Amino acid sequence: MGIKAYGFSDNKCVVELWVRKEQKKVAIDVKVTPLYCGKCRKELKRMYLLDGSRYGQVGTVQCDFCSARIDISDNDNLVDGLRLLNGKRYDFLDYERLYRLEDTVWEDIKECTGYDIFASHETQQVCLEKVMQEIKQTLPVPVPTDLPADFTVHEYIKNNIPTVIKEWIALLIAIKPEVYGSEGKKKYLGNAVFSDQ
Ligand SMILES: [Zn+2]
Repeated sequence: MGIKAYGFSDNKCVVELWVRKEQKKVAIDVKVTPLYCGKCRKELKRMYLLDGSRYGQVGTVQCDFCSARIDISDNDNLVDGLRLLNGKRYDFLDYERLYRLEDTVWEDIKECTGYDIFASHETQQVCLEKVMQEIKQTLPVPVPTDLPADFTVHEYIKNNIPTVIKEWIALLIAIKPEVYGSEGKKKYLGNAVFSDQ
C-alpha cells in the first residue's frame, strides 16, 4: 500500500484497462504516475508507483524543489485520477486526459483500424501494453514508438511520462493526427491537470 519511487525494474503494468462491454466503457486503473507540485508549479523529478490506498489515502511525498508536503489521495477504487493536496490548495491529475484514454479513443481506434476492444476483451482486465500490441498488429506498417520531437504531453507534466504512454500517444497520433497531434490536443488538454484553491 502507498506510493514509492518507481524503478524501471518494477515491471508493473502501467495502466490496467477494465473493459465493460455492457456499459461501453473502458475504465482505467493507473499504477505509474508523474507528480506535480502545485506550490512551486514544477513536475517532480521521478515517476512513482501507486500501490493502493486506504479509504482513499495514498500517501505523502515531498517536493524535490521547494520541499512542500504533497498529500496524495484517490477515489478508493480504480485509479483514474489523483488528488494532490498542498496545504489548502489541490491539483488533480485526470489520467483519461493526461494519458489519452478517454471513451472517444476507443471509437477512433475502431474507426481507423477496425480494432474493437469490446469484441476482443468483453469483460476482462487487460494491460494497456497488450491492447496496444494487438492494435499494432492490425496496421499495415509499423508506427513510431516515441513521440514526435516537438510534442509535449502537457505543459506542466512532460518529463516523466511512462514509456508505454509515450508509445500509446505516438500510436494515436499515427492513426488520427488531426485529433491526437499537436494541433488537435490544444483543444481540450488543459483539464488533464487542474487546480482548485
Ligand atoms: Zn514544490
